[in-house]
Amino acid sequence: MAFSFELLKTDSKSNARLGKMTTAHGEVRTPVFMPVGTQGTVKAMTPDGLKEAGAEIILGNTYHLYLRPGHELIREHGGLHRFMHWDRPILTDSGGFQIFSLGPLRKITEDGVQFQSHIDGSRHFISPERAIEIQEALGSDIMMCFDDCTPYPAERAYVEKSMALTHRWAKRCRDAQKNSSQALFGIIQGGIHRDLRQASVEALTGIGFDGYAIGGLSVGEPKALMMETIEATAPLLPAGRARYLMGVGTPEDIVEGVHYGIDLFDCVMPTRSARNGLLFTNRGKVVIKNARYRNDQAPLDEACDCYTCRNFTRAYLRHLFIAREILALLLNTIHNVRFYLALMERIRTSIAGGGFEDFRRSFRDRQREDDSGSIPEGRVDENMKTEKEDAP
Ligand SMILES: [Zn+2]
Repeated sequence: MAFSFELLKTDSKSNARLGKMTTAHGEVRTPVFMPVGTQGTVKAMTPDGLKEAGAEIILGNTYHLYLRPGHELIREHGGLHRFMHWDRPILTDSGGFQIFSLGPLRKITEDGVQFQSHIDGSRHFISPERAIEIQEALGSDIMMCFDDCTPYPAERAYVEKSMALTHRWAKRCRDAQKNSSQALFGIIQGGIHRDLRQASVEALTGIGFDGYAIGGLSVGEPKALMMETIEATAPLLPAGRARYLMGVGTPEDIVEGVHYGIDLFDCVMPTRSARNGLLFTNRGKVVIKNARYRNDQAPLDEACDCYTCRNFTRAYLRHLFIAREILALLLNTIHNVRFYLALMERIRTSIAGGGFEDFRRSFRDRQREDDSGSIPEGRVDENMKTEKEDAP
């Protein structure tokens, strides 16, 4: 079945949109959050648990799966869906961001990128054509173009050069695509420059893609600049195509992104924070190891319907975390993923009912019980940072 996106409603008081994506593995209601399953698993979640949490689509990563276990092995197993026992839609990132994260271990040329594996130092080369070939072997429902993720800060001349390379690679990705049942999204670059973002939108819509991502954000720029860039770029994109904001972000960022007209989000924040004992609730963030929860008999979040909140107290969750029990990672992740997905459900309901802007205001006001400002900022790859900080 071919991919399609249907715009069902645009909010009258903001640019928030309600939509529906149809893919070879089923429908996805937007705005949607995609839990990140980098290495063929959303860390500490079973596929059944993901479904129970309401996940309609997850993200897989080309770079990691190409290196380990290898896309040819996954192809032999019938593709990523069968390999990981997930029968709902999957979006695969192109690997551009991970290779960007390798820093000195990579060399960018017109043809593609030479890099050394972060696992064993072995040498590899990924071109736009190769990135599409790998994603076709994985069999994802939505593939991403191979892009040059422009760093921040960068000289304007560098941003322009990097963006132009992304455009030439985007055309090569489009030409390389063989399987029409998989959608292909283009990635808008252009740094924090409005005119360059506009030029990038024009170049990519000129090639024509099934959807468009805003890339190159959440890479160290101030939050206000990130929001300004989203606000300026989203309305330039064609209304009838899905819009994906890559690697963003906190619950507050997502509500703002929806306000500016974004349909798809992904971020390691709920899963990664869960393993670090940072939990999102309807009243703000909770650092579960804090002494104030030692004898707290309340559920983590009174307003949450997840398995963790239905069955366990804050005192028990604190105990598991302090005792470094594996169950702490599982229960914390179940909650954070459900929190994000329930947030998206509330966002969709409020857009459908015409009350999104009221929801947005009250959401901001409710984020009061706030243990910590230590939330990790910016787009990160869960597998390329030290896992030390992930251990409880
Ligand atoms: Zn919960």
